[in-house]
Amino acid sequence: MGHFDDRVALITGAGSGIGRAAAVRLARDGADVCIVDIDQDGADETASMVREFGRDAIVARANTASKGQVQDAVARCADELGGVDIAFANAGIARGAPLLEMELKDWQDQLDVNLTGVFLTVQAAAQQMAKQGRGGRIVCTASLAAETTGPGIWSYSATKAGVRIMVRGWAQELGPHGITVNAIGPGVIDTPLAAGLAGGEGGPIRQALEIRTPVGRVGRPEDIAGLVAFLCGPDGEFMTGSYLIMDGGLRDARARQDEAGTPIAEERMAMAMQSMDRRRKLQPLIDER
Ligand code: NAD
Repeated sequence: MGHFDDRVALITGAGSGIGRAAAVRLARDGADVCIVDIDQDGADETASMVREFGRDAIVARANTASKGQVQDAVARCADELGGVDIAFANAGIARGAPLLEMELKDWQDQLDVNLTGVFLTVQAAAQQMAKQGRGGRIVCTASLAAETTGPGIWSYSATKAGVRIMVRGWAQELGPHGITVNAIGPGVIDTPLAAGLAGGEGGPIRQALEIRTPVGRVGRPEDIAGLVAFLCGPDGEFMTGSYLIMDGGLRDARARQDEAGTPIAEERMAMAMQSMDRRRKLQPLIDER
C-alpha cells in the first residue's frame, strides 16, 4: 500500500526535471498520473517511467498559458483516470535578462507561463476537485527567487513572488472544499532549466555552488519530489497557504561567496544566458500551440 493508492495526480511541466521526478515519486507511492507538458517527447518518456510502477499514465499535451488547453487536460484526466486528487502546477520558464536589455516578449512569456499558467491550472483543477467533493491537494512551484533576486533574474523573481502570494488567498477560498494549496521554493536544482546556474558536474560553477551551499551539494529533482509528496500525503494535511523553501541552506549563504570565488552576479547572468538557450528549444513548441 502506498500513500497515494487510488489517487490521481495532474502534473504540469512533467516532461522534464522537477515535474518528472514528482510524477515518478507519486507513481511509486501508488498514484496514476496525468502528464501535462508542451513537449510531447519529454511527456511520453515520463509516461513510460510512471507505467514502470504499474500505474496508469496519460499525456495531455498543452501550453499551460492557454485556458482551453488546460481545461481540456483536466477534463481528460477526470474522464480517463477518474478524477483529479492532486494537482502540481509546476510548469515554468526562465527568461531573465538585464533591465537595459529586457525584451517585452520575454517579460510577457514569463508572465504567461509562470503566473497565468499557474492560475489557469489551479483554477481548472480546483473546479474539478470541488465538483468531485472529496477534497484535494494542490502544490505550485514558486522558487527561492520569490524572495531573493539580483541582476538578470528580477523578472523571473516577480512571477515567482506572485505565485507565493496567490496561494495564500487560494488557501482561504479552497479550505472549505477540503482542498489545501501551498507553494514551494526550490533553490538551485540540477535540471535543464537551471543548467547555467548549477553548472556541469565537476565544473567551476558547480564547485563554487557546492562550497557555498551548507549541505554541500546541488539540489536534485528528487529532493523536490519528496517535498511534493509530503504536502500531498497524510503528513501534509494541516498545511495550507504556506511557502516552503528547499534549497540546501543557500538562501542565507551569501557570506560564503568569497570563499567560493564565483560572484553571485556572474551566476545570475549565467542563468539568464542559459534561459535563452532553453528558449530556442521551447519557443517553436509554444508558438505552434
Ligand atoms: P525543466 O525545464 O527541466 O522542466 C520544465 C518543464 O515545463 C519542461 O518539460 C517544459 O517543456 C515544460 N513547460 C515549459 N513551458 C510550458 C508551457 N507553457 N506549458 C506546458 N509545459 C511547459 O525545469 P525545472 O527546473 O524542472 O522547472 C520546473 C519548475 O521549477 C519551474 O516552474 C521552475 O521555474 C521552477 N524552479 C526551478 C528551479 C531549478 O533550479 N531548477 C529552482 C526554482 C524553481
